[in-house]
Amino acid sequence: MDTSQLDAAIKARGKEFFTSIAGEAPSIFNKGWWTGKVMDWAMKNEDFKVKLFRFVDVLPYLDNGDSLSRHIDEYFVDDCGELPPVMKFGIKSAGIAGKIGGKIMAKSIRANIEKMARQFIVGQNTKEAVHSIDKLRKDGFAFVLDVLGEATVSEAEADARLEEHMELLQALGNAQSKWKPLDGNGEMDWGHAPKINLAVKPSAFYSQAKPRDFEGSVQGILDRLLPVAKKARELGAFLCIDMEQLDLKDITIELYKRLRSHPDLADYPHLGIVLQAYLRETDADAKGLVEWAREKNLPISIRLVKGAYWDYETVKAKQNGWEIPVYTVKAESDAAYERIAGYILQNADICHFACASHNIRTISAVQETALSLGVPESAYEFQVLYGMAEPVRKGLLNVAGRVRLYCPYGDLVPGMAYLVRRLLENTANESFLRQSFADESDHDRLLENPVTTAQREAPAPEPAPSCEGVGPFRNDPAIDFTIEEARRAFPEAIAARRASLGRTYPLFIGGKDIETDDRIPSTNPANLSEVVGEVCQAGTAEIDQAIAAAVTAQKEWARRPAKERAEIIMRAAEIAKERIIDLAAIQVLEVGKQWDQAHADVGEAIDFMEYYARDMLRLDNPRRMGRAPGEINHYMYQPKGVAAVIAPWNFPLAISVGMCSAAIVTGNAVLYKPSSLSSVIGYGLVEIFKEAGVPDGVFNYVPGRSSVMGDYLVNRPEISVIAFTGSMEVGTHIIETAAKIQPGQDHVKRVIAEMGGKNALIIDDDAELDEAVVHTLYAAFGFQGQKCSACSRVIVVDAIYDRFVDRLVEGARSLKIGPSEDPGNNMGPVVDVSQQKKIKEYVEIARKEGTILVEHTAPAALDTDNACYVPMTIVGGITPEHRIAQEEIFGPVLAVMRAKNFDQAIEWANSTRYALTGGVFSRSPRHLEQARREFNVGNLYLNRNNVGALVERQAFGGFKLSGVGSKTGGPDYLIQYMDPKVITENTMRRGFTPIAEDDEWV
Ligand SMILES: Cc1cc2nc3c(=O)[nH]c(=O)nc-3n(C[C@H](O)[C@H](O)[C@H](O)COP(=O)(O)OP(=O)(O)OC[C@H]3O[C@@H](n4cnc5c(N)ncnc54)[C@H](O)[C@@H]3O)c2cc1C
Repeated sequence: MDTSQLDAAIKARGKEFFTSIAGEAPSIFNKGWWTGKVMDWAMKNEDFKVKLFRFVDVLPYLDNGDSLSRHIDEYFVDDCGELPPVMKFGIKSAGIAGKIGGKIMAKSIRANIEKMARQFIVGQNTKEAVHSIDKLRKDGFAFVLDVLGEATVSEAEADARLEEHMELLQALGNAQSKWKPLDGNGEMDWGHAPKINLAVKPSAFYSQAKPRDFEGSVQGILDRLLPVAKKARELGAFLCIDMEQLDLKDITIELYKRLRSHPDLADYPHLGIVLQAYLRETDADAKGLVEWAREKNLPISIRLVKGAYWDYETVKAKQNGWEIPVYTVKAESDAAYERIAGYILQNADICHFACASHNIRTISAVQETALSLGVPESAYEFQVLYGMAEPVRKGLLNVAGRVRLYCPYGDLVPGMAYLVRRLLENTANESFLRQSFADESDHDRLLENPVTTAQREAPAPEPAPSCEGVGPFRNDPAIDFTIEEARRAFPEAIAARRASLGRTYPLFIGGKDIETDDRIPSTNPANLSEVVGEVCQAGTAEIDQAIAAAVTAQKEWARRPAKERAEIIMRAAEIAKERIIDLAAIQVLEVGKQWDQAHADVGEAIDFMEYYARDMLRLDNPRRMGRAPGEINHYMYQPKGVAAVIAPWNFPLAISVGMCSAAIVTGNAVLYKPSSLSSVIGYGLVEIFKEAGVPDGVFNYVPGRSSVMGDYLVNRPEISVIAFTGSMEVGTHIIETAAKIQPGQDHVKRVIAEMGGKNALIIDDDAELDEAVVHTLYAAFGFQGQKCSACSRVIVVDAIYDRFVDRLVEGARSLKIGPSEDPGNNMGPVVDVSQQKKIKEYVEIARKEGTILVEHTAPAALDTDNACYVPMTIVGGITPEHRIAQEEIFGPVLAVMRAKNFDQAIEWANSTRYALTGGVFSRSPRHLEQARREFNVGNLYLNRNNVGALVERQAFGGFKLSGVGSKTGGPDYLIQYMDPKVITENTMRRGFTPIAEDDEWV
């Protein structure tokens, strides 16, 4: 059959399908009921839809009448104190006024929503599930059971999920003997399909799966999934591995191959995998799997879906600056589905096909393609979601017979999250079900060949970027470890760096390398005997030399047009981009950063240069002040002179580059003193700036011992700006020292000081714990907690304390500790022996002040005198008066504080001398509003962790004792390196003045 004949047959079959179900609608759109009314209103009113879905999401956490009423009030009640009429539909208490009426109303709303959730869930426990399945099978439907669950954030939870699946399989095994096979004889449904069919989500079986650690993730999941697969085999059941977010796609495919070819399972064909047609890579993945099956001679089974995470994948890609991995025109996904389905059906001899769709065009296409290819019925089946698209499943049963319902079961906490996904799917503008049954779109249009639709709806090509000037600032993309080359690049770059370790790094002054006798070895904190480099140290003589070079070079540099300076800094950004993996690899070795964090550090350095270069162009235009005729007032900036940049080791490239590039692009010259713990990374600046064309003397690299040259540098009269990032003690000392006018000094020094933090995350009683736990662990223990922004206090509202802390503690115990060059490890060594000692002392203070909840150490073989490991520590029972609640530790020590309510949580969060970052996990609109007003920090994060600020988007910096100066990566930052100047010219000569266009004239 040629393609136009096939298309005509598909359309005819689709029409027949529509006719066979004429007048029917899925129950979710039935406006005679509460659900249908509310859905109808949600589809007409986007604002209500967002509120409704968010409310459904938080509902299982509202475990008492007061919090339920409060949230209904916060989400839905308008300024006049009224609920939208649709929410009151069919509720008897609608007319009752006052508190009692409100309570009854709230209970009814909860009951209605729970009923709505139950529509999509076959049961809350195995007994209910088996009971519902009995009924479905009597109606002629097969099933695939899916165990709903919260995200697995710890290995204890993964063990529990394994247990749950084993119990479920056993319960189904016990029940199956009483199930008559559907439409057939013998033991199998339809003569060939196992009666028990179980779907599993890989992420449920291993809490530490992540793209960065491909092999560890595959193995971690496999370890728990293998017993499930073996049990499935024992019971003669089918096991299907669901597909989740793109993050886990390649891991899941590899997992499938390993399970399918496992010696104990290779002769058992009932193992399937899911592919998502909306992903651009899926054609290749389907081909890869089929070819693999042929090569191994192992029959496989693929369920093809369009994909349930479209919004997530799109938003995530946009936020990270990645190519969008999914199609962006809905019809492209439909077309891909038909194409890939066709490919699988062509390979029906080795690949069983499950068509999972509610779209009548898609289903008809599969049916007609299978017919045209002569695919036997045993080689394909249809699947739809339980509780959805009832007319479609009924029509399918009539025409195809082999219909399987995907039946989630589990309790209402994960059930509500599942409900939200289904509601979103049903009400999306693009949804076939919505268009067919709610919007009643034209059938011809709905049955149109998606290739034609996609061509018509293809977006107009983006206009080519203008060649003039620079484009808008964009953050450098985060690394995407789902890409194999990215994963491979790190070990290769680390190995390459390792091959050249131990070399000597000279000073760089006035464009010349200068070696000194005083040298400090910089070592790998995971292996102190590994010397990363020998770094020459500047003494006072070298500082004098560098200052002389800087003073001379700065004069000429300041005269260069800002555009030229900006171009050089942008070239430096380009160079850093080219070397990003190498620059990250050295951080893994010198300071023990994990791959992703090291990459992000270099990315931030690039961002600083790109952003400041553009901002300098903005500031370079003198601004006219006032519009009075007869005079022109120009507001402009000039560089301050010579800057001393004193940088920390924790963001060794980003912060150094940020401060240096800001100083340079504004026309200053720089003396850069890196931390002795990261001076090899710091030398990277020499290479980048030199190659970019920063003139000799404008940038000088002068690592040195603080005790020898620290104060000397700060005191020198030629220095006009000191940009410092580091501890509060050193920062305030610099501020004090710099305030004194030295002999020969003709200006007041400006100090920009980014100092410490004692940052808190607040966990409200309605917080989404799946997210709150993972984000807290990351914010507290990522890079060993050695960030000024790190979370070192988590303040938990009493009502949710036990639930949160239990999961947090187990989550922490599940994190792996070991060298950061191994991508499986979440936490590495701290930066050096003195930090290690200090942190260990704080662990002892924590032990005295509170109750140690977690003290998770590195494996004994690693935790020797040759490495700087400290235990990952969580301490409970902490209140604001404790030292652990007040002092910056700069290590993986997290204080847990139990607050009686949200007001107290905010009060405690604000109870330190610092005000850097903070965060709140809450689903209460009122509490989020209160946090915006009252949580006193420079960077406040709502419903996400409080680390990882991005240039421009989260311009960074705090106040109180966290620092002085404007936010880095923000619009006020550069002006700190300059002096503003206003020039007024009187343009009136003998009563005549030229009138400018923007003059305020008569
Ligand atoms: C039995 C079964 C099992 C399932 N298992 C999985 C699974 O393991 N993993 C998984 O991810 N999903 C799974 N799903 C969910 C499935 O992805 C959705 O139900 C499905 O995408 C809906 O497609 P449809 O053909 O029914 O509806 P349609 O309305 O035709 O398609 C909707 C789909 O189109 C895609 N889409 C929407 N907007 C756009 C756009 N602008 N550009 C491009 N594409 C767009 C999305 O994938 C969306 O879900 C399963 C579904 C069923 C029935």
